[in-house]
Amino acid sequence: MFERFEAIANAPMREYTTLKLGGPADWLVTPKSTRELVQILGEARENGLPVTVIGHGSNLLVLDGGIRGVVIRMARGMKDCFVKGNLLVADAGTMMGAAASAAADAGLTGLEFASGIPGTVGGGVIMNAGAYGGEMSRVVQEVCLIQRDGTFRTLGKEELDFGYRHSALQATDDIVCQVTMRLENGDPDSIRERMSELNRQRAEKQPLDVPSAGSTFKRPEGAFAAALIDQCGLKGYTVGGAKVSTKHAGFLINIGESARDYLELIRTVQRIVEDRTGIRLETEVRIIGEDREPDSGEKGLNA
Ligand SMILES: Cc1cc2nc3c(=O)[nH]c(=O)nc-3n(C[C@H](O)[C@H](O)[C@H](O)COP(=O)(O)OP(=O)(O)OC[C@H]3O[C@@H](n4cnc5c(N)ncnc54)[C@H](O)[C@@H]3O)c2cc1C
Repeated sequence: MFERFEAIANAPMREYTTLKLGGPADWLVTPKSTRELVQILGEARENGLPVTVIGHGSNLLVLDGGIRGVVIRMARGMKDCFVKGNLLVADAGTMMGAAASAAADAGLTGLEFASGIPGTVGGGVIMNAGAYGGEMSRVVQEVCLIQRDGTFRTLGKEELDFGYRHSALQATDDIVCQVTMRLENGDPDSIRERMSELNRQRAEKQPLDVPSAGSTFKRPEGAFAAALIDQCGLKGYTVGGAKVSTKHAGFLINIGESARDYLELIRTVQRIVEDRTGIRLETEVRIIGEDREPDSGEKGLNA
């Protein structure tokens, strides 16, 4: 199966996620073009395989039992990016940093916030990724999508219902294949300076040298997840191979190899914070795949 494509059978998902956790995907396939993407979807359909789409895996907790069917990985494959006037048109697999850099080279401002977000442009649209006052919703003009039956459609920004770490696409099966962003004219040197400054601030505050998926929880209304976790005395709190970062309490980091430990840490932090502050932290990290009992087979998890 998938002989015509860059495909790996039994691909360990820990190698394809920044958290470095997760059991094997039956298949991991990296399309090099929209055409390949449509063909892969067709082959999956013919073989009755479920399809999961990922970008760079920087906002994912894949469970220890792995993922059945085929994982389509957009990062590394579809990554062409070009500038046309004030528009930056990027394939979904383009890394946010590469898109920000291309914008800077062309003297376009508006995407500086994205330079340190370690995900793809497609994942950025799905999550409405943002930082330092910027957000994908502010720059996206339109998005080209492929539906699971292989047909295309284009949605304008107003149809994407962007909100805080939310887009309408989260409730669909559609695959982002290309994103058009509208930016403003600016001075390339100032744009680069701003990007360096933001990345310096990021490195100062965030544990970038250990596996994580960024902020594990969304910002609750009127509060900050990291401050609440810190206030509950949970900095450094550890469950097996999962730990609340001592540098930034909003980052739960992986210091072992168990997604089960990580999930347990998420739940423990949620429970303690809710008990002590009355605020329920919702995960920003998306949890996918099958759980695995330590010694007795596998069971699906509705995460
Ligand atoms: C160190 C670190 C710092 C971070 N800082 C930030 C930050 O400042 N701001 C922020 O918002 N996030 C941040 N993140 C989280 C993460 O980088 C973003 O959420 C990013 O946008 C996810 O992109 P991705 O390509 O890795 O998507 P993935 O994690 O691979 O996927 C995320 C979701 O999008 C879906 N998806 C991905 N690509 C597509 C596609 N082409 N079509 C359809 N569905 C798709 C997946 O199914 C999944 O549901 C950080 C993460 C890390 C590790």
